[in-house]
Amino acid sequence: MLSVEAALDLVAKHCAPLAPRRVPLEEAIGLKLAEDIASDINSPPYDKAMMDGYAVRSIDREPERRILEEIAAGDVPQRRLECGNASRIMTGAPLPDGANAVVPVERTELISDGIVRLLQVDPSAGQNVLPLGASMRAGDIVIRSGAVVRPIEIAILAETGHSSALVVPRPRVAILPTGNELVAVEEKPGPGQIRNSNGPMLVAAAKRADAESIEIPVARDTQADLTKRVQQGLDADVFVLSGGVSAGKFDLVPQVLAALGVEQVFHKVALRPGKPLWFGIKKKADRTVLVFGLPGNPVSSLVCFELFVRPAIAALAGRGFSQLSSVRAKLTDAYAHGGGRAACLPARLDDGGSNKLVEILPWQGSADLATLALANALVRLPAESRQFAPGATLDVLPI
Ligand code: AMP
Ligand code: MG
Repeated sequence: MLSVEAALDLVAKHCAPLAPRRVPLEEAIGLKLAEDIASDINSPPYDKAMMDGYAVRSIDREPERRILEEIAAGDVPQRRLECGNASRIMTGAPLPDGANAVVPVERTELISDGIVRLLQVDPSAGQNVLPLGASMRAGDIVIRSGAVVRPIEIAILAETGHSSALVVPRPRVAILPTGNELVAVEEKPGPGQIRNSNGPMLVAAAKRADAESIEIPVARDTQADLTKRVQQGLDADVFVLSGGVSAGKFDLVPQVLAALGVEQVFHKVALRPGKPLWFGIKKKADRTVLVFGLPGNPVSSLVCFELFVRPAIAALAGRGFSQLSSVRAKLTDAYAHGGGRAACLPARLDDGGSNKLVEILPWQGSADLATLALANALVRLPAESRQFAPGATLDVLPI
């Protein structure tokens, strides 16, 4: 059976960043820029007061000054400043001609209506002034293509007049739960039925992986219903199905996908839980849709999502094929690993700074969502069988 590493390599091979698209500024957060951003302005656009106070000439040593005018942010100064003068100025306002320093208001005393006394008569040139163009000059490249947009990049895009940006778009991930036994969250399951928990879980997981997720209504285990729903899913960039990929008589997903032109890349991985994982691609004129058939058991579904789907989403978004970063932690209790398949087990990570501890949780198999809810990590064990003693250092994937 295919090893986890070989399977990951096969998925990675079929992942490429999506074609860049122009999006409104407010949608660009978290996305990767696909263009250099140039400034159309000088910032600041004028010599700017950085404090409330009096604009002065730094060479002037006269303690008492005649007040020429009051300049607020948004005003244009009207009076040229000479020695013996001061102009009342507010933070953010342009310095008047002739001025080159600001004495803070706290270091001044108003003597009468038109006269101020400076308690600081020797400001240095440029004191409390941000010179024109100090932050950026018109024509400067202020953000490079490839940067991931954070709130600060949004601010710079806004400052430089960009109401949209060319970015690698957020991948669209369609989620399709399959199974005759599934009923909606609002319903009380009847005999033989269970609620569809994978649908909402995978929608949430895709959102957390910074994808745009779309849930398709549950498909019944029939050729006709699956065909209809799968066609909907193939419009997305990544299509994630849950259930119907094991060896049961009604596990029809692989054959329905094949009939709709999805090429199988692999089926089954040496992983516990997650062995039935199916992966294929659908080539379209302008792009390739990645198709993941996750096992229906909720723990298997989540493990396969974290190991395989999350890195694929990151790669399509231009962030490279990467899982959440794993950490190394020391095992609290002995664990006998049967081997044969690599394992990815629900665990509790106690993040005690440099001395991280991890406990593998006793669980009731891959349908045991309640144990998974106690977990905050997955412990990764290799395919070889091994007795792990307390204190053994293990690879742990926080979830
Ligand atoms: P399957 O992979 O279709 O054979 O399903 C394996 C197990 O997972 C069965 O016990 C299913 O009832 C369960 N299962 C399948 N789909 C879901 C789902 N959407 N939500 C919760 N459990 C599911
Ligand atoms: Mg099923």
